[in-house]
Amino acid sequence: MAEQTAIENNIPKLAYITLEVGELSGFLPVFFHKYYPIVIENRPVLEGSKLNIISVAGEALCKDCSAMYNVMREEGRCPKCGSRSKTILGGQEFKIKEIGIPEIN
Ligand SMILES: [Zn+2]
Repeated sequence: MAEQTAIENNIPKLAYITLEVGELSGFLPVFFHKYYPIVIENRPVLEGSKLNIISVAGEALCKDCSAMYNVMREEGRCPKCGSRSKTILGGQEFKIKEIGIPEIN
């Protein structure tokens, strides 16, 4: 995905990629850190680039008592009233936040 963006913008090489990964997206940052070196192998655009990950907290609003809480920490249940009925406010995102272009000497 980042490689495609770079090619479209005529960027020969990337310095870094910053991903925004929500706690509720189903993607684990540790997974990306582990596989990134393998993914960038044989991809000249990405070779030598760094991977940054911004983790976004999974926040929810309780539909029964309007309390706001962290979904992961409370295991999906409102800490105030115990309800599982909620509106997810954030933490489902998975996107490229930024791509870094190396400085030209
Ligand atoms: Zn509640």
